[in-house]
Amino acid sequence: MPEFDTALVWLRRDLRLDDHAALYHALKASRAVVPVFIFDTDILDALRERADRRVEFIRESLAALNRELETHGSSLVVRHGSAQQLIPQLAAEFNADAVFCNRDYEPAAMTRDAAVAATLAQAGRVLRDYKDQVIFDQDEILTQAGTAFGVFTPYKNAWLKKLTPFYLTPYPVARYLNRLAPLPPQQPLPTLEDLGFRRTNLDALGIHTGSAGGQTLFENFIERMANYKLARDFPAVKGPSYLSVHLRFGTVSIRQLAFSAHGMGGAGAEIWLSELIWREFYQQLLWHHPYLAVGRAYKPQFDAIAWPNPPGHFEAWCEARTGYPLVDAALRQLNQTGYMHNRLRMVAASFLTKDLHVDWRLGERYFAEKLIDFDLAANNGGWQWAASTGCDAQPWFRIFNPITQSEKFDAEGKFIKRYLPELAAVPAKYVHAPWQLSSEFQRAYGVTIGKDYPPPLVDHAAARAVTLALYKSAGGNEE
Ligand code: FAD
Repeated sequence: MPEFDTALVWLRRDLRLDDHAALYHALKASRAVVPVFIFDTDILDALRERADRRVEFIRESLAALNRELETHGSSLVVRHGSAQQLIPQLAAEFNADAVFCNRDYEPAAMTRDAAVAATLAQAGRVLRDYKDQVIFDQDEILTQAGTAFGVFTPYKNAWLKKLTPFYLTPYPVARYLNRLAPLPPQQPLPTLEDLGFRRTNLDALGIHTGSAGGQTLFENFIERMANYKLARDFPAVKGPSYLSVHLRFGTVSIRQLAFSAHGMGGAGAEIWLSELIWREFYQQLLWHHPYLAVGRAYKPQFDAIAWPNPPGHFEAWCEARTGYPLVDAALRQLNQTGYMHNRLRMVAASFLTKDLHVDWRLGERYFAEKLIDFDLAANNGGWQWAASTGCDAQPWFRIFNPITQSEKFDAEGKFIKRYLPELAAVPAKYVHAPWQLSSEFQRAYGVTIGKDYPPPLVDHAAARAVTLALYKSAGGNEE
C-alpha cells in the first residue's frame, strides 16, 4: 500500500529520469507522481547576461526529459516564478501529500528548501530530500574527531575506504515508472524569450544536452579514460571528459561515473575518480563552512590582504588583453564557449591574483557568470586554491610562472593559436612570450606587438615580488 496518494518530484540539478534518488523514492511511496520543474526567478533574475548558456542547457535538457516522460504517458509540469512560492502552490493544486527532491548543499538552496518545507508543513504536507548528487553526504566522511576534513588526501583516503558497491548501486527507477501521474502533454515548454533570455551559441558549439548528451560524452570518455593521467593537463588535446556541465545539472548520475571509474582501475581511471572526489570534497567543505559563500577566505588571515586592484587589470584579464598568450587564450575559450580547461583555470586564476594583484573574489564572480559548469563549491574551492587563501591550497609563496606553464602545457602553442589567430604564424619558441620578438621578426610573423596583440600588462618577476610582500603583510609565513 503506497504511503501517499499523490506526490510531486521537484527537479532542480538532477535533470534525468534514470538512477534518480528522489524520483525513485517518490514512485515507491506514492500512487501517482507528478514531476515538476520551476524556472526560479529568485535565481534567474540575478543573472547579468540575457544570453546565458546555462539557461539554454537547462531548457534543452528539460525538453528531452519531457519527451521521455511523454513516452510513459506523463509529462513535466513547468512553471516560471519563485520556486519558494510555486512549489507549495503546485502541491496544493495537485493535492499532493508530499514533495520529494534531491538534496542541495548550497547555503541559499538550503534556506529556500527549509522555507518550502515550512510552508508545506503548515498545510500538512511533507518535503523529503535525498542524497543524489554525491556518493557521500557532508557528514558521512569525517575525521576521527568527527569534524570536517580540511585536507584533500586524507579525505580521499577516507572516502575510498568507505566506498562499497552499495554506494554505487543505481536506483531502479524504470521498475516503477508506471506510477508517473498520467498527465496530458503540457503546453509547450516556455521558450527562452518567455523566460526573458536569448539564444546563445550552445548549438553551434555542439554541446550535447540532456541525459542522452551526457551518455554520449561519457561513452566517448570511457575510451579515453586510461589516457587521462597523461592527457588531462594539455589544453590542446581532448584529455578530460567535458562532463562538468552534466554533473552540474544532473544529466548524468554520479553513481554511474564513479562505478565505471572505480571498476576500470588503472592510473587514468584512478586519477579521474580523484577528480570526482575533489568535487565532493569542496561540496562538503562549503556545507561545513557556509561563510565561504559570502566571500570570506577559508584562511581568515588572508582576508586582511589589501588587494591593489590596479585600474584596468581586471578588465584586461576579462577581455583577454593581458599580453600573456596562454592566459588570453584561456579567457577567450571561456568567453566564447563557457568552458575553460582545468589547467587553464589554475593558470588564469593564479595570474589574476598573483600577477595582476586583483582580488580573487572578482575572478570568482566572473567565472560564476561565464562558466556553463559553474558550481559554487568547486569554483570557490578552485579560486581559493589558486589564491592560496583556501584549504589545502597552493602555498602562497609558490607562484605559477605564466610563461613556463605555457611552455610546459602548450609547448607548440596549438591551444594558443586556436584562440589567438593573430599569433598563428609565430613559431612555438616565441609564442609564449611574443613581446620578445624583434620588430623585424614581428613583421615577418605578421604580428605587431602593441597593434595586433598587446604587450605584457605586467612583468612577471616584478609582480611576483609584490605578491610575496602582500601575503607576508597579511601574516603569511613560509611554513
Ligand atoms: P574532468 O577532468 O573530466 O573531471 C571530471 C569531473 O570531476 C569534473 O566534471 C568535475 O565535476 C570534477 N572535478 C574535476 N576537477 C575538479 C576540481 N578541481 N574541483 C572540483 N571538482 C572537480 N569545476 C566545476 O565543475 N565548476 C566550477 O565552477 C569550477 N570552477 C573552477 C575554478 C577554478 C579557479 C579552478 C582551478 C577549477 C574549477 N573547477 C570547477 C574544477 C575543474 O576545473 C572543472 O571541474 C573541470 O575543468 C571540468 O572539466 P571536465 O568535466 O572535462 O573535467
